[in-house]
Amino acid sequence: MTHPDVKVCSHCILPETFPGVSFDEHGKCNHCLRESPGGEKRDEKRKTYRHRLDSLATKIRGKSGSYDVVMAYSGGKDSTYTLKLLKEQFDLRILALTFDNHFVSPMALQNIKRASDTLQVDSMIVRPPWPTIKALFSLTARQDIFPAPTLLRASTICTACIGLVKSLTLKTALEMAIPLVAFGWSPGQAPIQSAIMKTNAELMRRNQQAMKRVFPAEMTSRLASYFVPDTYYEIYEDRFPYNIHPLAFFDYNEEGIKKAVSDLGWQDPADTDTNSTNCLLNAFANHCHLQRHGFHPYVWEIANMVRQGVMGRDEGIKKIYAEQDQDQIRYAREKLGL
Ligand SMILES: [Zn+2]
Repeated sequence: MTHPDVKVCSHCILPETFPGVSFDEHGKCNHCLRESPGGEKRDEKRKTYRHRLDSLATKIRGKSGSYDVVMAYSGGKDSTYTLKLLKEQFDLRILALTFDNHFVSPMALQNIKRASDTLQVDSMIVRPPWPTIKALFSLTARQDIFPAPTLLRASTICTACIGLVKSLTLKTALEMAIPLVAFGWSPGQAPIQSAIMKTNAELMRRNQQAMKRVFPAEMTSRLASYFVPDTYYEIYEDRFPYNIHPLAFFDYNEEGIKKAVSDLGWQDPADTDTNSTNCLLNAFANHCHLQRHGFHPYVWEIANMVRQGVMGRDEGIKKIYAEQDQDQIRYAREKLGL
């Protein structure tokens, strides 16, 4: 059993080093104290969202003449499971879009091929040139370029990478007239309130501008092909898709998910860290964040899942407070030449 070397909430797993955290006399943190018990209400809400996705799927299925949905597909267990749900339960025509950041585990690449073959969905992999990726991750390994609140949710390296994934997926949806964009966010990563959301040109324009602004100008111009071009907000104004992340309202438990995706030929990679089943940069990204901020970049997500009861507290502690794998840290650091 792993023992955190800092004080940790007695209910979830947030540490005393997490910004803004406080504890009551029983050691329960302010986030747990604010959480209303309402388990029934949560089930009710989940049911409502299932119905909403049912009607949305019925409305769009086969209508676009193109794909029904573009899925941001990392090859990890959560996005593989989401892909399976969308295909098997909603019978949607799916384009599985993978952003190859040069740190995708070879096993994850195999898993992408196997799962998309088994589910019979089209797979598209976009792989930026290495010098661009190297410059991006070298910058974000050293510098927290995003606004402070993002640091509470994820490392700067992850935020940059996910930002490009979201952007590229939206751009693809607009270009190919795909009405739905799907993500495999865990119930701890994104709240149920945002699980089915219609985007619009103005909102997305603002998101994109905010992201472009944080990068140095030279980097923004290198990344231009992954951002939504300014002209799209007018020419594709009617095409802005729904964003969905179904795992917020489906049953979630890690073992069940691994079992379900292994039926598709998916195999658990042995070379990734405890918080990722696809990325070989993750341990290094966690390490950089821990060094600079004194708390693990996944602790918010995992604490949410422990609080919601979808992950055991001991399991959460093990994921967050176990030592980062030194070999994986070294591998990424050397590859980036840092
Ligand atoms: Zn707590």
